[in-house]
Amino acid sequence: VTTATINLRSDMPVQTVEVMGSDHTIVNAARVSFLNDNAYTSRGLTPKDKGLINFLMREKHMSPFEHPVMTFRIEAPIFVWREFMRHRTFSYNEQSGRYTTFQPDFYCIPPERPVIQSGKPGDYHFEPSVLVNDSARVELKESYKDSWAAYQRMLDSGVAKEVARMALPVATYSTAYVTGNLRNWFQFLTLRTASQAQWEIQQVATDIEGEVYTHFPTAYSAYKEYQ
Ligand SMILES: Cc1cc2nc3c(=O)[nH]c(=O)nc-3n(C[C@H](O)[C@H](O)[C@H](O)COP(=O)(O)OP(=O)(O)OC[C@H]3O[C@@H](n4cnc5c(N)ncnc54)[C@H](O)[C@@H]3O)c2cc1C
Repeated sequence: VTTATINLRSDMPVQTVEVMGSDHTIVNAARVSFLNDNAYTSRGLTPKDKGLINFLMREKHMSPFEHPVMTFRIEAPIFVWREFMRHRTFSYNEQSGRYTTFQPDFYCIPPERPVIQSGKPGDYHFEPSVLVNDSARVELKESYKDSWAAYQRMLDSGVAKEVARMALPVATYSTAYVTGNLRNWFQFLTLRTASQAQWEIQQVATDIEGEVYTHFPTAYSAYKEYQ
């Protein structure tokens, strides 16, 4: 049945699926150099352990940070995934637009999202404007309704999902798993929490940053100090 009912969202949920390792993993990986990898995992880090993590980060001895691994399940619009998937060292699995029908979920800027861009490439800044934000939201909504209606009409008339999806905008939500080691999550955070990164991927990166901090507090502090 053709319908123009669509769902406007601006949330981009980040769910931690799995975490392998802890700050101890980094310490033990570094200490195997001297066969001092005691594999203590139940006690807290000693001041020496913390000093070692700081030393490794400061001196850019980054390979011990490659042993812990984090997997996230993220729902985000396709334009965010375009940026995310430039990070080539992660492993990805994404929902299929050939095998499943998309939900009528489209990203729409929240009222607080600055929309007026000034400056030059590489040196942009954004200014808020309630009026311009409101009119952009209306434009986005109307175009999503048209796209969704075309998608539905094509599916109703027997067009394959992989063809009908061509009508959908990059604001369509898609879900994927992303797995990477801690070193690469730090690299991702550096690039994508920065103010030059697009506002939407900054929101996703900030949520991931919270998870990194929760699971690897010492490594995260060292990263913030020496990045
Ligand atoms: C603000 C911003 C604007 C951007 N604008 C654009 C744009 O306009 N157009 C565009 O195409 N991209 C753009 N990008 C994407 C950017 O060029 C990178 O592809 C992306 O940030 C991933 O960074 P990375 O290559 O360091 O990460 P990863 O792909 O995760 O790689 C991690 C590290 O592994 C090494 N590595 C990975 N692959 C190779 C390789 N093939 N050869 C050598 N070393 C490798 C590098 O040391 C790299 O830093 C932008 C990124 C940001 C943050």
